[in-house]
Amino acid sequence: MPEIKLLDQHTINKIAAGEVVERPASVVKELVENAIDAGASAITVEIKEGGISFIRITDNGIGIPKKDIQTAFVRHSTSKIKSIEDLMTVSSLGFRGEALASIAAVSQIEVITKTYDDLTGIRYVIEGGQEMSMEEIGCPEGTTIIIKNLFYNTPARKKFLKKPATEGAHISEFVNKLALGHMGISFKFIYNNAIKLHTSGNNVLKDCILNVYDKEIVKNIMPFAVEGHDFDIHGFIGKPQLCRANRTYETYYINGRYVKSKLMMRAIEDGYKTKLTVHKYPFVVLHMQINPDLIDVNVHPNKMEIRFHNEMEIYEVIKNGIHQHLRQVDLIPEVPFDK
Ligand code: ADP
Ligand code: MG
Repeated sequence: MPEIKLLDQHTINKIAAGEVVERPASVVKELVENAIDAGASAITVEIKEGGISFIRITDNGIGIPKKDIQTAFVRHSTSKIKSIEDLMTVSSLGFRGEALASIAAVSQIEVITKTYDDLTGIRYVIEGGQEMSMEEIGCPEGTTIIIKNLFYNTPARKKFLKKPATEGAHISEFVNKLALGHMGISFKFIYNNAIKLHTSGNNVLKDCILNVYDKEIVKNIMPFAVEGHDFDIHGFIGKPQLCRANRTYETYYINGRYVKSKLMMRAIEDGYKTKLTVHKYPFVVLHMQINPDLIDVNVHPNKMEIRFHNEMEIYEVIKNGIHQHLRQVDLIPEVPFDK
């Protein structure tokens, strides 16, 4: 019988990285979520070669204190929760303390960061989970993280990446979703030196939808608002003619978190049922605010799955709400475009 042994930390980190870091878009998601949690009002995402060789995320958030930078890259280290009880009320997007450790295990990272309190900033370089250097430098408050050569030390994973154009499209899609989820933050997305998205951050969802999509879409959407016992949902839903052959236009957020939920999906699509033909999917951008006690976001390491305690009520409220809002479209055919 072979001996049973605990794996060393490097191997543990590389294995665990697989759950959090599937592709370049997952790196962008985790790092942008960190920037949002850091209270940034402006976030720039820059990628080259579909994010495989280069990703740079810059934020103007609170920065990482000099004394904490090494700890931030240790698995399960987080500033966002202190105990399991905190999970019941967690409002930050992150809390598992896994992203930086996971990304660092499978790439080459450079962080430049400064807090308000530290007099100088720091530049920290870590490759394949090994610290390479740490030095003081002058820099503005906030954080810049550069990720180079994702999966350079895990060829088996690298092999599964798609062409740069496909990986880049996934990132673009994700940045769009993150921007629509946080209209109060100005997002910039630069792909191979060209600006692909720039949102104003003025906190107006309709303006954000216009930045991400176009006038044709904005002309054909209408405001949506419903309330349940412990939650409310607001946003925009598209007229049936905006439908698509896939679900890329179905976007919803729960307490600011972009998620995929079978329950929400079913409720939305059933609300449209009589208006859409089979295999057509609606345009919606919906924000749900719900008491954090009534959901569980700790279902999967990527935190994109969610469980609700009051499933039936949520289903009914959304489905009926959409149905009723759509009935109004029949009465008022054109929603005026006020921009
Ligand atoms: P989590 O987000 O789950 O806490 P991460 O591994 O993503 O775990 O990050 C570890 C810690 O590093 C965070 O809890 C936070 O304190 C700090 N951190 C990461 N990114 C940033 C950032 N852009 N600005 C400020 N602090 C950050
Ligand atoms: Mg995080």
